[in-house]
Order: sequence, then C-alpha cells, then structure tokens
Amino acid sequence: MLRLLVPDSCYPSLYDVDLDELSRRGIRGLILDLDNTLAEYANAAVPPRTRAWVQEAKARGFRLCITSNARPQRVKAFAESLGVPGIAYAVKPVRRAFRRALEILGTTPQETAVVGDQLFTDVLGGNRMGMYTVLVNPLSTNELGTTRLMRRLERRVLRHLVRRGMVREEHWRVREGRAGDA
Ligand SMILES: [Mg+2]
Repeated sequence: MLRLLVPDSCYPSLYDVDLDELSRRGIRGLILDLDNTLAEYANAAVPPRTRAWVQEAKARGFRLCITSNARPQRVKAFAESLGVPGIAYAVKPVRRAFRRALEILGTTPQETAVVGDQLFTDVLGGNRMGMYTVLVNPLSTNELGTTRLMRRLERRVLRHLVRRGMVREEHWRVREGRAGDA
C-alpha cells in the first residue's frame, strides 16, 4: 500500500521535469494536473513558462491531457488556451478519469506519466494505474484549507517513506526545497 505513495521522480517544478528522461523510459503520454502544477491555484492566468513548456513537450512528440479535480469551467479555459484536451471533476485518485485520459492519449499505462503536485491524488492515482509518476512542488502556497491539511500529512508520509528507504533522500530534499544541499 505505501508503495503506491512513492513517486518515481521529484522535481522542484513542472519546468524542471526531464523530458529526455521520460522519452528514454518510453513515455509518450503525459497526464497533467492543473492546480499548482500548470498554474497557480485559483489564478486564471496561464503562466508564460507553462505555455512554453507545453509547446516544448508537444514539439517533442508527447501527447498531453490535463486531468484535474477542478470544475469544468476552469479546466476548459486552460485546455483551450493551451490547446490540449482536459478532464474536469476527475476525483483523483479514483481511476476512472485516468482511464479516460488514456483513451484520449491513445497510450498504455506503461507509456504514460502523471505529473502533479499532490501525493494523495496525482501520485497515488498514477501508481494505482501502473503509470510513471512525477511529483512536482506546488507553484504557490495559495491552497484550499483541506489541501493544506493534506500537505502536512504528505510531509509526514514522505518522511516515513524516506526512513524506510522507499523514497530517495534526493527526492525528499527536492520536496523540502533543499535540492542544493549536500
Ligand atoms: Mg494540484
């Protein structure tokens, strides 16, 4: 069970995700979280860096699909602006939306990576599907009260997983914002 909470890789942000590494692993489809991964929570603006990153990923041949627990209006706005399909009310970590995303992407779970900022929705959901999971740090600290509670739980779980040798120290440092520490 705990295994399902272990991300395959960790990066400080979406912009740091090593797309070459994903290609080498045979990944062709990316399921992208919206809030605090592609854009700041509750902010309607598409960050220019996100736009550039999406273009770069597309140019490298990746197929993308936004899969978010947010409401349809918000997901649609980002999906249209970025020119990628979007699934709203995903209820991650429930598998249904991930299955739908695979249909849209036309990829198998083995060829698909989930990129998101939350352990209990993005990483857990992706791992349950047998996908490659990429945990990124949230773009902003502006979050729902319930999400903040989850953050505290996330930290405790990750600490536990590091102690048990299930999460790499290196990944833990990235998550704690101390990637540069020796
Ligand atoms: Mg998120």
